[in-house]
Order: sequence, then C-alpha cells, then structure tokens
Amino acid sequence: MSDKPLPPVDAESRAYWEACNTGRLLLQRCAACASVQFYPRVLCAQCGAVSPEPVDASGHGIIRTFTIIRRAVSAAFDADVPYVVALIELAEGPTMMSNIIDSPLEAVAIGAPVQLTFERRSDAINIPQFRLVP
Ligand SMILES: [Zn+2]
Repeated sequence: MSDKPLPPVDAESRAYWEACNTGRLLLQRCAACASVQFYPRVLCAQCGAVSPEPVDASGHGIIRTFTIIRRAVSAAFDADVPYVVALIELAEGPTMMSNIIDSPLEAVAIGAPVQLTFERRSDAINIPQFRLVP
C-alpha cells in the first residue's frame, strides 16, 4: 500500500492504533485530575495516576508551528515533497506532531484551523494527518 515506515504497535499503543484504523483519534483523560494527554501512556503525565481513560478527539485544532520539507528523508517520501510537518494544538489541549496534507502550501500558517484526516499506510495502520479547514 505504501513504502513509508510503519509505527511499532505494542501493548501500550495497540488501542490507539486500532482506533486510528477506524478513523478515530484517541486521547487520554485522567480520572483523578481531568488532564487530557497525547500520546497514549500507562500513567497520567500530570499527576501519575494509573490508567488514564481513552477519549475521542474532536479532530479540530490549530497549527502551533510548522516547517516545509523540501528534500525527502527517504525515497518513500519523494512523491510528497514539498510537504508540511506541523505541531497541532488539539482543541482538547494536547499538542501532536503531524502533517498538513491536501492543502495549498501558501495557505499554511501559524494559528490556522485544521481538521483531522487519515493516511492509510497498511491494512492495520491509518496515520492521523490534518488538513486546513476551508
Ligand atoms: Zn492526572
């Protein structure tokens, strides 16, 4: 399907990747302190409580910062250049690194609203990506 690298799936991330595979982006909310975090972890990063609960992200966010990649890191990404790597501040609070796809480069800007989409890389891996809100 794609020559791009696939993320490792382990016990800690399995539920996350399974949700991505169905088009959902999972965050975690701590039952003890209500902190919302990304990426999936066994403990709350704020208070150390165990087993933060999975919650669905709304899929909305803004670009906190970004860069434009003009030379692919490997041949698997040759067809994508130039492409955007961005830090996305999700509506729920956490920040995640992702790509801005299907959007004109000249319109990508700090503070621009984005929405979740996915890039299918294999039968089991669906990578969260973002596009500018039209
Ligand atoms: Zn907590």
